[in-house]
Amino acid sequence: MLNTLKKVFGFQSFRPNQEAIIKNILDKKDVFAVMPTGGGKSLCYQLPARMMTGITVVISPLISLMKDQVDAAIENGMSAAFLNSSLSAQEMSSVYKKLKGNDLELLYISPERFAMPDFLEMLKSIPISLFAIDEAHCVSEWGHDFRPDYLSLCNITRIFPHIPVSAFTATATPKVQKDIINKIRLRSPHIIRASFNRQNLFYQVKSKIGLESQIMEFLKEHADEPGIIYRTTRDSVFRLTEYLVDQGVSALPYHAGLTPEQRNRNQEAFSRDRVTIIVATIAFGMGIDKSNVRFVIHADLPKNIEGYYQETGRAGRDGERANCLLFFGRQDIPKIRYFIDQMPNEKERSISMEKLNKSVTYASHNVCRRRQLLEYFGENYTEENCGACDICLGNVEKVDITVDAQIVMSAMSRTGQYFGTRHIIDVVAGADTKRIRELQHNEIKTYGAGKHKEKNHWQFIVDELLAQEAILQDGGQYPVLILTKKGIEILYGREKIEGLKREEIKKKPKAFKVSGFEPYDEALFDKLRVLRKKIAEDHKVPPYIIFSDMTLHEMCVYFPSVLEEMRAISGVGDTKLERYGADFTNEIKAHLDKNPGILIPDRKPVALSANTPPQKMKGGTIEKTYDLFKEGLSIKEIAKRRNLATSTITGHLETLIRDGRDIEIDRLFDPERRNAIEEMFLALKTWNTGSVVEHSNGTVSYDDAKLVRAFVQQKG
Ligand code: ADP
Ligand code: MG
Ligand code: ZN
Repeated sequence: MLNTLKKVFGFQSFRPNQEAIIKNILDKKDVFAVMPTGGGKSLCYQLPARMMTGITVVISPLISLMKDQVDAAIENGMSAAFLNSSLSAQEMSSVYKKLKGNDLELLYISPERFAMPDFLEMLKSIPISLFAIDEAHCVSEWGHDFRPDYLSLCNITRIFPHIPVSAFTATATPKVQKDIINKIRLRSPHIIRASFNRQNLFYQVKSKIGLESQIMEFLKEHADEPGIIYRTTRDSVFRLTEYLVDQGVSALPYHAGLTPEQRNRNQEAFSRDRVTIIVATIAFGMGIDKSNVRFVIHADLPKNIEGYYQETGRAGRDGERANCLLFFGRQDIPKIRYFIDQMPNEKERSISMEKLNKSVTYASHNVCRRRQLLEYFGENYTEENCGACDICLGNVEKVDITVDAQIVMSAMSRTGQYFGTRHIIDVVAGADTKRIRELQHNEIKTYGAGKHKEKNHWQFIVDELLAQEAILQDGGQYPVLILTKKGIEILYGREKIEGLKREEIKKKPKAFKVSGFEPYDEALFDKLRVLRKKIAEDHKVPPYIIFSDMTLHEMCVYFPSVLEEMRAISGVGDTKLERYGADFTNEIKAHLDKNPGILIPDRKPVALSANTPPQKMKGGTIEKTYDLFKEGLSIKEIAKRRNLATSTITGHLETLIRDGRDIEIDRLFDPERRNAIEEMFLALKTWNTGSVVEHSNGTVSYDDAKLVRAFVQQKG
């Protein structure tokens, strides 16, 4: 298993639970797995797909996800395809041919297809190793994205009694879990529930005061990082995008008001790093596996924690650190309440109200954000300090708030515990409102008792009392504050209460426990990112499918400049090493040449499994190119013969030239042209190929520039 993990996916170790899941699958047991977004569910069925005989059939709900997953599998050297309504008849029949020829390891299908009798007949005639049901919560009507077509999967174990079935989801309350297992009729499945703790996410809440400039301030600190900004309404999405674009930020909108084509285009631009930021309503996110989302901002209060967790979960799937920032303003509460009030069903209304209250609690309480989230999902979080949220990193000071608490609770008590937060604060602060005059609340003893302090101080007191359950909020639509037993003890002076006064964090949060590639060479990272994007454009796939941010970061720590070193980097499997290894080692080598001061840290040699002798890989691919070049083939011909991109072959030749091998440069360029390119390097006083390409007005390609550069540098 470990061997396949490294060879195919390039990873040295499993993420939590992956190994157990895969073992059970290989034992032909049914599996039900709940893992958070970014937990690495795909690998749990893709790795067995490689190891088992027969085809692994993956059922997946969205066309865009299927396509990206298939592309990613192919980039890892797997043989994969999908069948859905987006294919032409011709593409369809080519997939069928591969299926019948037993030429596929992975087949992705939509649930609708599983309901088609002809298709089922075909499936019965081919060897299948495993059914993997992704986003399995779609089968449950109790979940949030029930998909009626998933119900066709209810027959799966009846039709294919001898084939193991695995179901994967990131969201399953116990009720949904039971429902999924029953509906799909999993046979005493091995059940795995992973922790929902996403260690690489930094959670933070800020008061919303001047949202636009607050966002700009954040973006300045996070320039060039891809991120999602969620807003509640189409209109606010539209306006924020316009504002950001005016400020020179690369941003596009996404909401249900755009045409499907526009939505697809904007989503793709984001996924392919052509635009940095997407401003979106919560309509955005389900169809995207982009692993290098570096932040998720909620510019408005989310209406419940489930949604908030799911949306923030889209950050940092690659395991590298990412930020989750929520701007909290109380003015957002009535807006959500308005929508809740429109709900026809009384019970749903009160459930929604309760969820909204939890969301407010999350944002306003001085309790570790991570602990709050995990406890919300029923996990017991025992760390004293999570090290990666604003509360745990902030300067928190304990203060006695007994006197102020008594003022608030006295106002509550004297008005009969019939009023909500806002009115109670008005009474305490001595506000002169119509309502107060009508109710003659200006005549009670506590009226104005707190007018020497600001209203938001009294809000803080109310929040603390709620958090510590000295008071509670009751009543769905217009909740009122009531005293609890604990509150009464405090009011009568028999108990004291302390609050946590928090200062905004000023220092930049220290690196918290993530993959640990900090610091890395940022200048090199930028170069590698550009290279990754260029290769991705050539291959028409999203950049994160070529290499994840984590993989690039690791390269920027260890500077692998030969293939053997590149091979040790996490995320570099055999296929990617062959396809892109040389491109990246060349870029790194050039960077090292330009910056001779760089110290390369030692690393422990990666344990290679006994049955993959390293010599076999070592330079093998470059040697093949060399042999073919020596046979007299041109770059184009070699590329065609080896089914590799011409840029890859150029990379090989570049390496060969640098290694002083016998490459007849005149076969690649006529001398005049070569001299002209050399002159450009000299005139521009740079080894930067980009400058030469630009300067040449398109007459010199990157590949040409690289080869000449290697030649010129090599000849000294
Ligand atoms: P999920 O479907 O659970 O949200 P994915 O399958 O999309 O997660 O995986 C998220 C990211 O984690 C991908 O970029 C994937 O390559 C990466 N990943 C998966 N397993 C590992 C592992 N063992 N080591 C490092 N990265 C991994
Ligand atoms: Mg997934
Ligand atoms: Zn914390």
